[in-house]
Amino acid sequence: MGSSYLSQRVAGLKPSGIRKFFDIVSTMHDVISLGIGEPDFTTPPPILQAGIHSLQSGETHYTSNAGILELRQEIAKHLYNLYGVSYNPENEVVVTVGGSEALYLSLTALLDPGDEVIVITPCFVAYQAGVQLAGGVAVEVPCRLENNFDIDPDDVRAAVTPRTRAILLSFPNNPTGAVASRERLMEVARIAEEYDLIVISDEIYARLVYGNDHVCFAALPGMRERTILVNGFSKAYAMTGWRIGYAAAPEGIMSGMARVHQYSLMCSSTTAQKAAYHALTVGEPYVQQMVAEYDRRRRLIVDGLNAIGLQTFEPCGAFYAFPYIGSTGLDDETFANRLLMEERVAVVPGSAFGKGGEGFVRCSYATAYEKIEEALERMGRFVNRLR
Ligand code: PMP
Repeated sequence: MGSSYLSQRVAGLKPSGIRKFFDIVSTMHDVISLGIGEPDFTTPPPILQAGIHSLQSGETHYTSNAGILELRQEIAKHLYNLYGVSYNPENEVVVTVGGSEALYLSLTALLDPGDEVIVITPCFVAYQAGVQLAGGVAVEVPCRLENNFDIDPDDVRAAVTPRTRAILLSFPNNPTGAVASRERLMEVARIAEEYDLIVISDEIYARLVYGNDHVCFAALPGMRERTILVNGFSKAYAMTGWRIGYAAAPEGIMSGMARVHQYSLMCSSTTAQKAAYHALTVGEPYVQQMVAEYDRRRRLIVDGLNAIGLQTFEPCGAFYAFPYIGSTGLDDETFANRLLMEERVAVVPGSAFGKGGEGFVRCSYATAYEKIEEALERMGRFVNRLR
């Protein structure tokens, strides 16, 4: 009852493939989940304490809309120190409710009805829906295994139409774990310049890279002026539940995004902002520790999956492995469903992440080493039975 009242925009949204799957998982026992997209670590102690202390000191009020100035200053400093890109904390940075809100602000600020956004897939499940909710049309451009899931600039160029307003991409990537090469990103930058497009670069996994430096899109020559940089604290500092992130963009674009933020969310949680400030000022050793542990698990899972005959390219970022399961003769949904029912291991079907994900499954290694070992054993049994 009542769904007939929904707007066409909302009624047309597909339920998330991940949600559907995890509704089943939550009713089962003894499941090893490689399905989750969040760190298994608890937020590091000094960051946690900063939040508690802030609450106990009675900081229970709103902050300025864009976020506490000291936090915005730290964010600007952080981006400058890591990538050499500078933003004015007064009017080019806004603190948001997770990277999720930063994406929402970007799309709402940029799109008029019918505008197209080129979405590089496979990608975070919220992108296509986010574009649709903002009144736009998502045009998916898949990355492929043969390119190590790096961007194919020719495909991007071929997808540009007179309605294209923006390119939305995210590297290190969820779900593939791929890191885009500087050369390919430079080609995307050239396309953006040629067709006067904005690039929304979701760099939420930027700190989780293994053996390579992150390339910040806004730091590429000429790109600061046409990039909306989305980032946050969820992944690097194990702060998913705090709901805190940020966007950085040139002033003209940011003024629009800040207005959307002001009239919809007002400001992000004061407690979370205080904790995030500490994440940037004292969190670095913890980031290093977590990255080292993810790297150890990454080697285990990539070697393990290849050893059981599931071709897995080496993911150089985030905390996902993306094995090709097409060789088993099953499609990715059937593979994930049967693996869950027969061996109680949860992975996410690749097709949930858009074009290019079909035939793969996403395995998160943001879970304990021993659990990954056990999951690999179970998956090995499952794959053997299929042969
Ligand atoms: N972007 C990507 C690529 C993600 O994978 C996620 C979370 N899974 C988000 C954004 C949202 O993160 P947040 O918790 O900061 O809203």
